[in-house]
Amino acid sequence: MPALRVHATVARSRANGPGTRFVVWVQGCSLGCVGCFNPTTHAAEGGEEVAVDDLLARIADAAARGEVDGLTVSGGEPLEQAEGVAALLRGARALGLSTLVFSGFTLDEIRARPGGPDVLAALDVLVDGRYEARARLAEGLRGSSNQRIHALTARHTVAEVEATPVAEIQIGPDGAVVVTGVAPVPLRRGR
Ligand code: SF4
Repeated sequence: MPALRVHATVARSRANGPGTRFVVWVQGCSLGCVGCFNPTTHAAEGGEEVAVDDLLARIADAAARGEVDGLTVSGGEPLEQAEGVAALLRGARALGLSTLVFSGFTLDEIRARPGGPDVLAALDVLVDGRYEARARLAEGLRGSSNQRIHALTARHTVAEVEATPVAEIQIGPDGAVVVTGVAPVPLRRGR
């Protein structure tokens, strides 16, 4: 089983696709969209390498507790780690979870990339296309209006995907704050 270079994970999110989802942000993206909201994911050598089996064990635990309906893979650029992402998606699907990927590549580009068809074969929903700051949308799970939602199976409708909340703030037991979603709220310190 391959490994993935991972930027971050969240065990339960309602702002990254239909229902409650385990989210993996992969590390590394060479696309360089101007205005990208997550530039700390760009460096290929950042994050940490995690075995896909270890990620799947955590996802399986959450699924067994009935805490998640699906897996979302975001980034960073998932298609630049296609082998590991495809393995992760296949494992999630075997657990009965739905699968969703955000990619800066378009569907046609993914079809032509090494490993792209393997990712698509394990995928229920693809949100595709570069982020274009001039076409900023930040709703319905699309960062900009050029991006498209593809329902690749009958598991979710596009309307269901578009109904995803735009932002979410999680405060962990240790006080750590995680802000996520397609329109994350900038946090300001009080005086
Ligand atoms: S593809 Fe995504 S992570 Fe990469 S630069 Fe564009 S918006 Fe940022």
